[in-house]
Amino acid sequence: MKVLVINAGSSSLKYQLYDMTDESVLAKGLVERIGMDSSIVTHKPTGGTEVTEVSEILEHTTAIRKVLSLLTDPEHGVIGSVDEIEAVGHRVVHGGEYFGESALVDGDVKTKIRLLFDLAPLHNPASMMGIKAAESNMNVPQVVVFDTAFHQSMPEHAYLYAIPRVLYSKHKVRRYGAHGTSHEFVSKTAAEFLNRPIEDLKIISCHVGNGASVTAVKGGRSIDTSMGMTPLEGLMMGTRSGDLDPAIVPYVMNKEELTVNEVNSMLNKHSGLLAISGISSDMREITDGMQKGDANSKLAFDMYEYRLRKYIGSYAAVMNGVDVITFTAGVGENSVVLRKKVCENLTYLGVELDDELNEIRSGEPRRISTANSKVEVLVIPTNEELVIARDTNRIVQGLMS
Ligand code: AMP
Repeated sequence: MKVLVINAGSSSLKYQLYDMTDESVLAKGLVERIGMDSSIVTHKPTGGTEVTEVSEILEHTTAIRKVLSLLTDPEHGVIGSVDEIEAVGHRVVHGGEYFGESALVDGDVKTKIRLLFDLAPLHNPASMMGIKAAESNMNVPQVVVFDTAFHQSMPEHAYLYAIPRVLYSKHKVRRYGAHGTSHEFVSKTAAEFLNRPIEDLKIISCHVGNGASVTAVKGGRSIDTSMGMTPLEGLMMGTRSGDLDPAIVPYVMNKEELTVNEVNSMLNKHSGLLAISGISSDMREITDGMQKGDANSKLAFDMYEYRLRKYIGSYAAVMNGVDVITFTAGVGENSVVLRKKVCENLTYLGVELDDELNEIRSGEPRRISTANSKVEVLVIPTNEELVIARDTNRIVQGLMS
């Protein structure tokens, strides 16, 4: 089965076409600046040449039409006809309490995604545009895969905030987490790599990139995660503050005469690595700055690492131990220095890093702890699109059988 995976943002649409017989990617690409003048389309057939086009794409329906024409293009295409695509899988950020797993799109599912617009005002409306755009161009089953679904297994004591209960019952204020597809993929891949049943493992999964979160995975289920009602909670990130005293919000709003939108934007877009380094939200630039002796870059790096280590410690406490620590995403997969700094301060847990293994660069799952280490430390490259393609394939195959 060929599955088209779509990740729609408010002005962008990423896609990957999978052949599920061998889980290979046939082509991938991105439509940017939808609705603005001169949209940019980048299309890359596997093994072929990347093409970039500038054209006018005013909304997502036209974007998908463009994608389908590129996928079937005589020169740059990878399939003979759109009919070869048998299913579409969409990434949806927020599934709220409605979705603990991926779902086949029908009227009820669309209503629920719409009901969640309030909780994910930037993301869920964009996903809905992607679903509608696919619907109006193709007549195949569609599946939605939620960033929050994996964390629906969190117990009440982990997902509730200690605030008046009415805010939960009336407005669903609680912790939902995010990066669920990544944490699920990485923890399953870690168990396979170790050749051990996931049911027996206590895993701390660190997804650290521009967005960053840590999850405590016990017996294959998320029992706590660092992101909260929104992705702002938890670790320090590229431009997000992560945890802070909530009393800072009214205090700063008052002192600086900020509106709700302004303070929201400050915490989401102008904080984190960017705010502390004063240089960049990009860990590569922070690391370069630190190596050149820039004190602010060093402080930004130290804060990022320190907060990650605090979460690892707290999740070891939550699970009464840890068997495996995994690193993934841009920073986790690539930053030798961050992994080293985190691990050299986890010796109390029995973590022993192998410096040579830590230096190896590879796109494959790998162990970076020594043979004597009491905790397995692994680098597992994440692949959220593959999870979406697999879930879509499984659900649609189920329909056919
Ligand atoms: P992601 O959000 O998963 O795409 O990750 C993006 C982050 O990964 C950015 O902060 C990048 O600077 C960081 N990153 C990518 N490559 C490296 C590297 N070689 N060393 C350190 N950070 C990196």
